[in-house]
Amino acid sequence: MSEAHYDLAVIGGGINGAGIARDASGRGLRVVLLEQNDFAGGTSSASTKLIHGGLRYLEHYEFRLVAESLREREVLLRLAPHLVTPLRFVLPHVKSLRPAWMMCMGLWLYDRLGGRGSLPASTAVSLDGTPEGAPLRPLLRKGFVYWDAWVDDARLVIANLRSAAGYGATLMRSTRFVAARREAGVWRIEARHRDGSVRILRARALVNAAGPWVAEAAHGIEGSQDMAARVQLVKGSHIVVPRVHPGRYAYLLQNDDRRIVFVLPYEERYSLIGTTDVLIETPEQGAHIDAAEVRYLLAAANRYLATHLRERNIVWTYSGVRPLYDDGSANPSATTRDYHLVLDAGEDVPLLSIYGGKITTYRKLAEAALAQLRPWLEPARGEWTAHEPLPGGAGASERALSTLQKQYEGLPASLVERLYRRHGSETSALLAGAVTVDDLGHHFGADLYEREVRHFIAHEWAEEPDDVLWRRTKAGLHLSAAERQEFEGWFVAQQGRMQRETRCSA
Ligand SMILES: Cc1cc2nc3c(=O)[nH]c(=O)nc-3n(C[C@H](O)[C@H](O)[C@H](O)COP(=O)(O)OP(=O)(O)OC[C@H]3O[C@@H](n4cnc5c(N)ncnc54)[C@H](O)[C@@H]3O)c2cc1C
Repeated sequence: MSEAHYDLAVIGGGINGAGIARDASGRGLRVVLLEQNDFAGGTSSASTKLIHGGLRYLEHYEFRLVAESLREREVLLRLAPHLVTPLRFVLPHVKSLRPAWMMCMGLWLYDRLGGRGSLPASTAVSLDGTPEGAPLRPLLRKGFVYWDAWVDDARLVIANLRSAAGYGATLMRSTRFVAARREAGVWRIEARHRDGSVRILRARALVNAAGPWVAEAAHGIEGSQDMAARVQLVKGSHIVVPRVHPGRYAYLLQNDDRRIVFVLPYEERYSLIGTTDVLIETPEQGAHIDAAEVRYLLAAANRYLATHLRERNIVWTYSGVRPLYDDGSANPSATTRDYHLVLDAGEDVPLLSIYGGKITTYRKLAEAALAQLRPWLEPARGEWTAHEPLPGGAGASERALSTLQKQYEGLPASLVERLYRRHGSETSALLAGAVTVDDLGHHFGADLYEREVRHFIAHEWAEEPDDVLWRRTKAGLHLSAAERQEFEGWFVAQQGRMQRETRCSA
């Protein structure tokens, strides 16, 4: 049985675990991260995919959270411009739901809370005979426009992990944290790989970033069982339908339960509609959308849209679970989305448990986690992640994309763009030497080629077909059932061949 020693062990390969692993390893700490399934396989690939201040949170007086999120929006637009892109929102005005003065005041505050940013200020917009009004019911005449940003959530996790790995972090996927106890001034951690092998690790500090499974992981950590009571699990679901409007902007629709529903442009051909807020007891209950959520989302969209959506229009759904800090609120929509870090410094061997948070604030959460652990870990370097671009982010811009499209003029411009949105400035390395699509290897359908898949296997820890189809890309949505099946067959055969080669060379 192998044993290894680290400064910091992190449970969970979602955005929070990945962000902490990146920050800590970049400060010179020896880091290990354990993920039971695929990286980003939990909530961090099931979000609404917004890097946003959260206009709605103003109604709950969450000014600190909104201000920090808006500042982070600017930081992330800079660090990963290929993954985080500005998105314009249209907010139709319905007098009976919120008066115009309230909307104006909220947007005025939203424009200012984060300080001067790069995105345009909010404005009023006519919905009468304008492109913004065209997809909506004719009764809606007035609205507002404001800006936030869109993110490929799963790829943001991978970008953080690639950076962490570059700084020397050990990343173990398919490896489940089982138990930890304090022993001889460090944590003794037991983890189990999917193949049944057990690993024993030692670390000076432990972070529980298991997201919706934070309570379950806490049960395995000696002395931390009472942490379980602090999490409130709130399921949120989305539906995907054929594109309901052509513009590259989104709608924020008010509902009469005072919640809001987004209609977002998604993967060119589709619209993403979400989300719901359903209190659940266990993470497993959050795996799938239920009939009531489908009805809720369709009704919210149909209240505003000129095209009537039906259940048969739904092409895909996904659900995720928010691991919120239980602030005692009975209404899951009102429970704080802010993060809470709970430190247990028992026996001078620290455990930090992470609750709540948003994709948007993961980087600040990581800084806060490192600040709490500083007395024990004494990292060589201070805060640094606000300035160093994520992999693919350095030099990425719309201009760099058009230069690349010219450079690879033998490839479809749409393919180069799609690759660029995934790999940013690393796309040129991925495409090196390609003159036509024939140079990219086997074509699986849509924009998925063998060369990129091999990159996912070699550099992004893809081990299962779904890792590629639903997280490294969203090709699953674009391939036919037969194409998906063919891809799965190819992938499994490929993995088998690689394992045999590894065994032979060992
Ligand atoms: C419907 C919905 C919409 C959202 N929309 C947005 C949005 O638009 N913008 C935004 O900023 N935020 C949004 N959020 C919030 C955001 O998605 C979450 O706060 C964030 O993804 C949580 O990340 P995490 O790393 O804490 O959890 P996760 O991503 O769930 O990661 C935890 C990981 O820990 C692993 N794990 C668990 N137990 C173990 C174990 N024993 N051993 C090893 N690994 C383990 C899991 O497999 C999982 O991968 C949304 C959330 C939901 C549910």
